[in-house]
Amino acid sequence: MTAQSAASVGGAPAADSAGAATIAGREAAAVAIEDAGMTYPDGTRALQPVRLRIAPGEFVTLLGPSGCGKSTLLKMIAGLLEPTQGSIALWGRPAGGRAAAGRKLAFVFQSPTLMPWANVRANVRLPLDLARVPAAEAAHRVDAALALVGLAEFSAALPRTLSGGMQMRVSIARSLVTQPQLLLMDEPFGALDEITRYKLDAELLDLWRAQGLTVIFVTHSIQEAVFLSSRVIMMAARPGRVTDDVVIDEPYPRRPEFAVSARFSQYARRLQESLLQASGGADGGLAPGPAQDAAQGPAGDTGAARVTGTRA
Ligand code: ADP
Repeated sequence: MTAQSAASVGGAPAADSAGAATIAGREAAAVAIEDAGMTYPDGTRALQPVRLRIAPGEFVTLLGPSGCGKSTLLKMIAGLLEPTQGSIALWGRPAGGRAAAGRKLAFVFQSPTLMPWANVRANVRLPLDLARVPAAEAAHRVDAALALVGLAEFSAALPRTLSGGMQMRVSIARSLVTQPQLLLMDEPFGALDEITRYKLDAELLDLWRAQGLTVIFVTHSIQEAVFLSSRVIMMAARPGRVTDDVVIDEPYPRRPEFAVSARFSQYARRLQESLLQASGGADGGLAPGPAQDAAQGPAGDTGAARVTGTRA
């Protein structure tokens, strides 16, 4: 994704996303989760009741170890799973219903799930073919989406000739042609090498801002959560539950320098402490690595509380 990302696929006005992140008003909620919980048919209690409001334009990350219910919560928001208790509304309409779907949400999975026999263009056009969008309109939207993810020159390529990062860009382009207002992403870059992942993280932020999207992003990487998010929802396992809600009060665009700054370390430490508290001192199974080095903090740590806000 390139500087072309200022182009708009959906024609949605670019929102001041960082500003919108501070709005949590009842009327403004893009996603309102009212004590929604999930017990699977086999009796697994995947998620204790969650109460959460997400305003339009927020970039919210669900962060937690495997099995804490991140995917379950994301699927419930998408309307792919119905909560066994409580309810979820998107812009005031029940999730899973036709009216909520009309606000257009797109789901990006960890695997790009491309059709191997079809070229990039045909893969990106698939949702428009299914929706019987007229050919000229479809062609225009596909062109715009490919430009946004920097793949305009690869429209005739087959997926197997592309790198993992490029395949994921195709998957993102395929979600953008539907002109979503809400983008749900389940560890989309988890299978990529760290450098590619970092690049795609930065590109995703460009897209989010240019398109005025609301994004809910799942990861188990503290570092990725801090770099991307306007707000991090911390979750814990056994039983799956929300344990913390932390605002990353850092302006966008986020420069690469942010990732090596003292403030970044303080946020990482704040989330690490929250994780330890929720898991009773165990490491909770979150991705180790530089974030945890960073969480050791620079000498003379000033205390995370000063750089983070917490929402009730
Ligand atoms: P995460 O995305 O955080 O790894 P999941 O939402 O996938 O967590 O899973 C939460 C819990 O629910 C886990 O204990 C998992 O084994 C269980 N689970 C997930 N899907 C199902 C299912 N279809 N049936 C029964 N249990 C499930």
